[in-house]
Amino acid sequence: MEQRGMLERIKEMTAEAKNIVVLIGVGAVIESGGENLWSSRECYRLESIYHKSPDEMMEVGFYSARRDKFFEFYKKEIIGKDLEPASLYYDIKKMQQQGKIKAIITQNIDGLHNKAGLEGVIELHGNVNDNRCPHCQKTFDLQYMRNAKAVPLCDDCHTSIRPGVLLFGESMDNQKMTEAVNACEGADLILCLGTNMYDGMVKFCTGTYKGEKLVLISPEEHYMDKYADYVVHTKVGEALKFIVE
Ligand SMILES: [Zn+2]
Repeated sequence: MEQRGMLERIKEMTAEAKNIVVLIGVGAVIESGGENLWSSRECYRLESIYHKSPDEMMEVGFYSARRDKFFEFYKKEIIGKDLEPASLYYDIKKMQQQGKIKAIITQNIDGLHNKAGLEGVIELHGNVNDNRCPHCQKTFDLQYMRNAKAVPLCDDCHTSIRPGVLLFGESMDNQKMTEAVNACEGADLILCLGTNMYDGMVKFCTGTYKGEKLVLISPEEHYMDKYADYVVHTKVGEALKFIVE
């Protein structure tokens, strides 16, 4: 099916669907003006500044051992930019307001989905807005973390604040994982946005989906695309504008 026909078919399916699950990938961050830190270009740039890969710096062992270096990286590269959600988020919100969405799942940690007003998002890797003192449990917002001079410290007990994101080497929240898989299993339509079928989240969440309406929308082609039932290669924002209007 050519792309236009494919988009029209997806628009029809979306109009009919009542239990849509949306998976939001890193492409949504890029359409909002952010970077994929794990792209080879970014990895190269980060290695040249920090002499470590983003994987190494986001690792729990590095966080424990070199907290100063961790936060130097985290504050600049992870929470340094104040992005605004791309239009795609507001189109998802429209679907949510129409009561068509069963679940929204992401491993993006930037909180763009919150900023756009999406509700009940299953955040498999946490969120940069949810920071907590591990000692007294006091919570801190993103601005507090950004404003900290060096390592962000709890203003009550001076313990270093733990960012609310999953670090490499830590396991995902079991309850969230189950919720995500169950939602996908019972979906009548799955929209995978700004990602690909090779992505860990997509593989994991859609592994038990038995339906035939797995839609992938991404500007980038990938050799695993054939595992989606419908594929459109375009900016997610452009596709959703057409699908949701
Ligand atoms: Zn504290």
